[in-house]
Amino acid sequence: MENLCKNYVIAIDGEAGTGKSTLAKSIAKKYKIVYMDTGAMYRCVTLEMLNNDISMDDVEKIEKMLDDIKIEIRNDDDEDKFFLNGKDVTKKIREQKVNDNVSQVSHIPIVRERMVELQRKLANGKKIVMEGRDIGTNVFPNAQVKIYLTASAHVKAKRRYEQNKEKGINIPFEEIYNNVVFRDNNDKNSNVAPLKKAADAFELDTTNYTLDEVENIVVNKIKEKVALND
Ligand code: C5P
Repeated sequence: MENLCKNYVIAIDGEAGTGKSTLAKSIAKKYKIVYMDTGAMYRCVTLEMLNNDISMDDVEKIEKMLDDIKIEIRNDDDEDKFFLNGKDVTKKIREQKVNDNVSQVSHIPIVRERMVELQRKLANGKKIVMEGRDIGTNVFPNAQVKIYLTASAHVKAKRRYEQNKEKGINIPFEEIYNNVVFRDNNDKNSNVAPLKKAADAFELDTTNYTLDEVENIVVNKIKEKVALND
Protein backbone atom coordinates (compact mmCIF):
# COMPACT_ATOMS: atom_id res chain seq x y z
CA MET A 1 0.00 0.00 0.00
CA GLU A 2 1.36 3.39 -1.00
CA ASN A 3 1.20 6.67 0.88
CA LEU A 4 0.59 5.32 4.35
CA CYS A 5 0.24 8.36 6.67
CA LYS A 6 1.34 10.75 3.93
CA ASN A 7 -0.70 13.59 2.52
CA TYR A 8 -2.70 12.81 -0.56
CA VAL A 9 -5.25 14.16 -2.99
CA ILE A 10 -8.35 12.23 -3.96
CA ALA A 11 -9.63 13.88 -7.15
CA ILE A 12 -13.31 13.36 -7.92
CA ASP A 13 -14.28 14.77 -11.30
CA GLY A 14 -17.32 14.33 -13.46
CA GLU A 15 -20.50 15.74 -14.89
CA ALA A 16 -23.00 17.88 -12.98
CA GLY A 17 -25.36 15.87 -10.78
CA THR A 18 -23.38 12.63 -10.72
CA GLY A 19 -23.20 12.71 -6.93
CA LYS A 20 -19.66 14.09 -6.61
CA SER A 21 -20.49 16.45 -3.73
CA THR A 22 -22.45 13.94 -1.69
CA LEU A 23 -19.74 11.35 -2.19
CA ALA A 24 -16.80 13.65 -1.46
CA LYS A 25 -18.48 15.10 1.65
CA SER A 26 -19.30 11.68 3.01
CA ILE A 27 -15.78 10.36 2.46
CA ALA A 28 -14.27 13.46 4.07
CA LYS A 29 -16.49 13.11 7.13
CA LYS A 30 -15.99 9.37 7.61
CA TYR A 31 -12.23 9.40 7.15
CA LYS A 32 -11.55 12.81 8.69
CA ILE A 33 -9.95 14.38 5.67
CA VAL A 34 -10.46 17.84 4.19
CA TYR A 35 -13.21 18.36 1.61
CA MET A 36 -13.08 20.95 -1.13
CA ASP A 37 -15.93 21.87 -3.46
CA THR A 38 -14.19 23.69 -6.32
CA GLY A 39 -17.46 24.29 -8.19
CA ALA A 40 -18.61 26.50 -5.32
CA MET A 41 -15.53 28.68 -5.82
CA TYR A 42 -16.43 29.26 -9.47
CA ARG A 43 -19.97 29.97 -8.32
CA CYS A 44 -18.67 32.67 -5.93
CA VAL A 45 -16.73 34.34 -8.75
CA THR A 46 -19.81 34.17 -10.98
CA LEU A 47 -22.00 35.75 -8.30
CA GLU A 48 -19.48 38.55 -7.79
CA MET A 49 -19.46 39.25 -11.54
CA LEU A 50 -23.25 39.30 -11.67
CA ASN A 51 -23.51 41.53 -8.58
CA ASN A 52 -21.14 44.03 -10.14
CA ASP A 53 -22.38 43.77 -13.72
CA ILE A 54 -18.98 42.72 -14.98
CA SER A 55 -19.08 41.52 -18.55
CA MET A 56 -17.40 38.21 -19.43
CA ASP A 57 -15.09 39.87 -21.94
CA ASP A 58 -13.95 42.72 -19.72
CA VAL A 59 -10.63 41.10 -18.78
CA GLU A 60 -9.34 44.20 -16.99
CA LYS A 61 -12.33 44.42 -14.65
CA ILE A 62 -12.30 40.66 -14.09
CA GLU A 63 -8.65 40.76 -13.13
CA LYS A 64 -9.25 43.62 -10.69
CA MET A 65 -12.22 41.77 -9.21
CA LEU A 66 -10.05 38.64 -8.76
CA ASP A 67 -7.33 40.69 -7.05
CA ASP A 68 -9.85 41.87 -4.45
CA ILE A 69 -12.15 38.86 -4.07
CA LYS A 70 -12.14 36.97 -0.79
CA ILE A 71 -13.62 33.47 -0.86
CA GLU A 72 -13.78 31.64 2.46
CA ILE A 73 -15.08 28.22 3.38
CA ARG A 74 -16.18 27.86 6.98
CA ASN A 75 -17.37 24.62 8.47
CA ASP A 76 -20.41 25.47 10.53
CA ASP A 77 -22.45 22.79 12.31
CA ASP A 78 -21.26 20.07 9.93
CA GLU A 79 -22.09 22.18 6.90
CA ASP A 80 -19.62 23.97 4.65
CA LYS A 81 -20.62 27.60 4.29
CA PHE A 82 -19.27 29.86 1.58
CA PHE A 83 -18.47 33.47 2.30
CA LEU A 84 -17.89 35.98 -0.47
CA ASN A 85 -16.14 39.12 0.75
CA GLY A 86 -17.39 38.37 4.26
CA LYS A 87 -21.02 37.64 3.33
CA ASP A 88 -22.64 34.20 3.60
CA VAL A 89 -23.58 33.25 0.01
CA THR A 90 -24.10 29.51 0.57
CA LYS A 91 -27.63 29.66 -0.82
CA LYS A 92 -27.18 32.47 -3.32
CA ILE A 93 -24.51 30.62 -5.29
CA ARG A 94 -27.05 27.85 -6.08
CA GLU A 95 -29.56 30.23 -7.66
CA GLN A 96 -30.58 29.87 -11.29
CA LYS A 97 -28.81 33.01 -12.52
CA VAL A 98 -25.55 31.56 -11.19
CA ASN A 99 -26.31 28.15 -12.75
CA ASP A 100 -26.87 29.88 -16.07
CA ASN A 101 -23.53 31.70 -16.10
CA VAL A 102 -21.05 29.64 -14.07
CA SER A 103 -19.88 27.37 -16.87
CA GLN A 104 -18.90 30.29 -19.11
CA VAL A 105 -17.30 32.23 -16.23
CA SER A 106 -15.29 29.24 -15.05
CA HIS A 107 -13.67 28.91 -18.47
CA ILE A 108 -12.39 32.47 -18.65
CA PRO A 109 -8.60 31.84 -18.63
CA ILE A 110 -7.72 34.31 -15.84
CA VAL A 111 -10.54 32.99 -13.64
CA ARG A 112 -9.33 29.41 -14.10
CA GLU A 113 -5.73 30.42 -13.46
CA ARG A 114 -6.50 32.19 -10.17
CA MET A 115 -8.88 29.54 -8.84
CA VAL A 116 -6.47 26.70 -9.63
CA GLU A 117 -3.76 28.65 -7.80
CA LEU A 118 -6.05 29.05 -4.79
CA GLN A 119 -7.09 25.38 -4.84
CA ARG A 120 -3.47 24.23 -4.86
CA LYS A 121 -2.62 26.59 -2.02
CA LEU A 122 -5.56 25.49 0.13
CA ALA A 123 -4.75 21.81 -0.43
CA ASN A 124 -1.09 22.15 0.40
CA GLY A 125 0.08 19.75 3.12
CA LYS A 126 -3.31 18.13 3.62
CA LYS A 127 -5.12 14.88 3.09
CA ILE A 128 -7.88 16.14 0.88
CA VAL A 129 -10.80 15.02 -1.25
CA MET A 130 -11.40 17.59 -3.95
CA GLU A 131 -14.30 17.56 -6.36
CA GLY A 132 -14.72 19.41 -9.62
CA ARG A 133 -14.16 19.06 -13.35
CA ASP A 134 -10.41 19.36 -13.86
CA ILE A 135 -8.87 18.18 -10.59
CA GLY A 136 -7.28 14.99 -11.94
CA THR A 137 -6.34 16.51 -15.31
CA ASN A 138 -5.23 20.03 -14.40
CA VAL A 139 -5.21 21.01 -10.71
CA PHE A 140 -3.49 17.86 -9.43
CA PRO A 141 -2.38 15.75 -12.41
CA ASN A 142 -0.31 13.70 -9.94
CA ALA A 143 -3.21 13.04 -7.54
CA GLN A 144 -2.83 9.66 -5.83
CA VAL A 145 -6.46 8.75 -6.59
CA LYS A 146 -8.58 9.87 -9.54
CA ILE A 147 -12.25 9.10 -9.90
CA TYR A 148 -14.43 10.13 -12.86
CA LEU A 149 -18.22 9.93 -12.53
CA THR A 150 -20.91 9.99 -15.21
CA ALA A 151 -24.68 9.33 -15.31
CA SER A 152 -27.61 9.68 -17.70
CA ALA A 153 -28.93 13.23 -18.16
CA HIS A 154 -32.28 12.35 -16.55
CA VAL A 155 -30.70 10.88 -13.43
CA LYS A 156 -28.26 13.80 -13.12
CA ALA A 157 -31.09 16.35 -13.28
CA LYS A 158 -33.18 14.36 -10.82
CA ARG A 159 -30.35 14.24 -8.28
CA ARG A 160 -29.72 17.99 -8.60
CA TYR A 161 -33.45 18.64 -8.22
CA GLU A 162 -33.65 16.59 -4.99
CA GLN A 163 -30.46 18.17 -3.67
CA ASN A 164 -31.88 21.66 -4.23
CA LYS A 165 -35.17 20.69 -2.58
CA GLU A 166 -33.27 19.56 0.52
CA LYS A 167 -31.54 22.93 0.64
CA GLY A 168 -34.86 24.77 0.25
CA ILE A 169 -34.10 25.88 -3.31
CA ASN A 170 -37.04 25.56 -5.69
CA ILE A 171 -36.11 25.36 -9.35
CA PRO A 172 -38.41 23.48 -11.78
CA PHE A 173 -37.13 20.07 -12.95
CA GLU A 174 -37.11 21.05 -16.63
CA GLU A 175 -34.98 24.10 -15.99
CA ILE A 176 -32.49 21.97 -14.08
CA TYR A 177 -32.46 19.32 -16.81
CA ASN A 178 -31.72 21.89 -19.54
CA ASN A 179 -29.06 23.56 -17.43
CA VAL A 180 -27.29 20.28 -16.57
CA VAL A 181 -27.18 19.27 -20.25
CA PHE A 182 -25.98 22.72 -21.30
CA ARG A 183 -23.27 22.91 -18.63
CA ASP A 184 -21.90 19.43 -19.30
CA ASN A 185 -21.62 20.18 -23.02
CA ASN A 186 -20.04 23.55 -22.38
CA ASP A 187 -17.63 22.10 -19.81
CA LYS A 188 -16.55 19.29 -22.16
CA ASN A 189 -16.09 21.51 -25.19
CA SER A 190 -14.14 24.32 -23.57
CA ASN A 191 -10.61 25.21 -24.67
CA VAL A 192 -9.67 25.92 -21.06
CA ALA A 193 -9.35 22.85 -18.81
CA PRO A 194 -12.22 20.91 -20.41
CA LEU A 195 -14.11 18.27 -18.50
CA LYS A 196 -12.63 14.92 -19.48
CA LYS A 197 -11.53 11.72 -17.85
CA ALA A 198 -7.84 11.64 -16.91
CA ALA A 199 -6.16 8.68 -18.60
CA ASP A 200 -5.42 7.10 -15.21
CA ALA A 201 -8.82 7.80 -13.59
CA PHE A 202 -11.26 5.11 -12.50
CA GLU A 203 -14.51 5.77 -14.41
CA LEU A 204 -17.90 4.86 -13.00
CA ASP A 205 -21.29 5.28 -14.65
CA THR A 206 -23.51 5.92 -11.63
CA THR A 207 -26.87 5.81 -13.46
CA ASN A 208 -28.03 2.52 -12.00
CA TYR A 209 -26.49 2.80 -8.57
CA THR A 210 -27.72 4.44 -5.39
CA LEU A 211 -25.37 6.99 -3.86
CA ASP A 212 -24.53 4.46 -1.11
CA GLU A 213 -23.54 1.89 -3.73
CA VAL A 214 -21.40 4.46 -5.52
CA GLU A 215 -19.69 5.27 -2.24
CA ASN A 216 -18.90 1.60 -1.56
CA ILE A 217 -17.37 1.09 -4.98
CA VAL A 218 -15.35 4.30 -4.83
CA VAL A 219 -14.11 3.78 -1.26
CA ASN A 220 -12.83 0.33 -2.22
CA LYS A 221 -11.00 1.86 -5.19
CA ILE A 222 -9.49 4.56 -2.98
CA LYS A 223 -8.32 1.95 -0.48
CA GLU A 224 -6.31 0.28 -3.23
CA LYS A 225 -4.26 3.47 -3.51
CA VAL A 226 -4.10 5.20 -0.13
CA ALA A 227 -4.70 4.31 3.50
CA LEU A 228 -8.03 5.62 4.75
CA ASN A 229 -8.33 5.36 8.52
CA ASP A 230 -11.69 3.80 9.38
O1 C5P B 1 -19.86 21.42 -9.25
P1 C5P B 1 -20.81 22.49 -9.69
O2 C5P B 1 -21.91 21.99 -10.55
O3 C5P B 1 -21.27 23.36 -8.57
O4 C5P B 1 -19.90 23.42 -10.63
C1 C5P B 1 -20.42 24.55 -11.28
C2 C5P B 1 -19.67 24.80 -12.58
O5 C5P B 1 -18.35 25.21 -12.29
C3 C5P B 1 -19.54 23.60 -13.51
O6 C5P B 1 -20.63 23.44 -14.39
C4 C5P B 1 -18.29 23.94 -14.28
O7 C5P B 1 -18.60 24.78 -15.37
C5 C5P B 1 -17.48 24.77 -13.31
N1 C5P B 1 -16.38 24.02 -12.70
C6 C5P B 1 -15.21 23.89 -13.43
N2 C5P B 1 -14.13 23.29 -12.85
C7 C5P B 1 -14.18 22.80 -11.62
C8 C5P B 1 -15.38 22.88 -10.87
C9 C5P B 1 -16.46 23.49 -11.46
O8 C5P B 1 -15.16 24.31 -14.58
N3 C5P B 1 -13.09 22.25 -11.08
